[in-house]
Amino acid sequence: MNIAFCSSEVYPFAKTGGLADVSGALPLSLAALGHNVKIFMPWYKGIEPDKHFDDFGIINHQGVEVVFIKNDHFFKRDYLYTTSQGDYPDNLERFSFFSRQVLKALKELNFAPDIIHNNDWQTSLISVYLKVFYKNDDFFQNTKTVLTIHNLVFQGIFDKKHFSCLDIGWDYFNMHFLEFWGKINLLKGGIIFSDTITTVSPTYAKQIQKKEFGCGLEGVLKEKKENLTGILNGIDYNVWNPKSDKLIYKNYSQSLKKKSENKLSLQKEAGLAQDKNFLLFGMVSRLTEQKGLDILTEAIDSILDKSQLIILGLGDPKYHKILKEKRKNNKDKFALFIDFDETLAHKIYAASDVFLLPSRFEPCGLSQMISFKYGTIPLVNLTGGLADTVSDISRGGGGFTFKKYSKNNLIKAVKEAQKLFKDKKKWSSVVKENMKKDFSWKRAAKQFLKLYQGLTGS
Ligand code: ADP
Repeated sequence: MNIAFCSSEVYPFAKTGGLADVSGALPLSLAALGHNVKIFMPWYKGIEPDKHFDDFGIINHQGVEVVFIKNDHFFKRDYLYTTSQGDYPDNLERFSFFSRQVLKALKELNFAPDIIHNNDWQTSLISVYLKVFYKNDDFFQNTKTVLTIHNLVFQGIFDKKHFSCLDIGWDYFNMHFLEFWGKINLLKGGIIFSDTITTVSPTYAKQIQKKEFGCGLEGVLKEKKENLTGILNGIDYNVWNPKSDKLIYKNYSQSLKKKSENKLSLQKEAGLAQDKNFLLFGMVSRLTEQKGLDILTEAIDSILDKSQLIILGLGDPKYHKILKEKRKNNKDKFALFIDFDETLAHKIYAASDVFLLPSRFEPCGLSQMISFKYGTIPLVNLTGGLADTVSDISRGGGGFTFKKYSKNNLIKAVKEAQKLFKDKKKWSSVVKENMKKDFSWKRAAKQFLKLYQGLTGS
């Protein structure tokens, strides 16, 4: 099967979050199952393709070709979508250009896809353009489209005054197509025009059909519910494995002694008091309300009462300020890095005892799966993908959990962690069980293939 996988970020070439992890791993797993896969992404600053063509460049990445769509003006910038001043004002032009060029590049490469797999609003227009521009084109006659929604909050909404840059007729600007409360909504277009929709966990697939999590698109999604599936993400154990991870201080597998050497080293590097008997909470995250920053900032005093905390993240300036303020009086207990730093992220997964994920909502979440592998116990709000991957230690599971999103419930779970940390034997048996869990991409890749085969009738 020929599969074109299209994404606005792909690890290790460009990353702002989980979408890059997924796009860097799932296509490789599909290829490993014997299929012809090509990845399409923008040619951002810093990328150096091996092969050059007029409109794109290509790198062979672990046996899979990554095609970088070229437009220096649109893509060779310091950030992918947003600067500290806000979103780039021409994001609609940038990603509509990208979407048109992907379809042209497929023809130029003579790669007739059975499946075009798009991801999020940035590539949603590919499904639209395929049906609008190429309906009668033999080259795409057998092509089916899949759209994966990684986070429904991000829909690609733009003022209608820019509609002409899409190059499609105004008859597509109505409530049955791309119009949404008087604006252009790219994700809505993708949902309507794609042959099937997936999202990144079974629980989130149900949640987004309801008002609370549907972000205004619950009606559109409900209408497509026969074609809406939740397939849980995986993680790439070539990137996330404490046994071989080159970015951490000391490699380890089942040895908690070696894991604690990572803790001592990170405590030192981060300026925390060095003691392996201090319980260390870690967090690597976008610092936004979605990730639970409102209740976390309220619970910090309880965390620091008996433990240490290290946070790495970027996000809402409001939370940067609150966290910096909290740190002032707790410098030996609380380390804060307002940054995006891949190396430090790996060190935090390896060094921490507990990983904090108190998300208000979470489509899938990768950090809890990474934490399992690194012997770091996740502490989560049971929503979305967190509910599909973590269950409570008191019920034989591998995490500290709470169910109703509130500061008090978060604090209760923190106290559970502080209590269990004193029971070294139980702690170590939970950690060892967690490290055996398998969330590799192979399972998800097989589920996607089944979905593709259902669509193409192969
Ligand atoms: P998101 O909603 O942000 O995509 P996910 O849990 O799906 O959340 O994925 C987040 C990914 O981004 C993880 O690999 C996490 O380690 C990484 N990450 C988040 N923030 C940072 C940061 N500040 N520095 C380095 N990595 C980060």
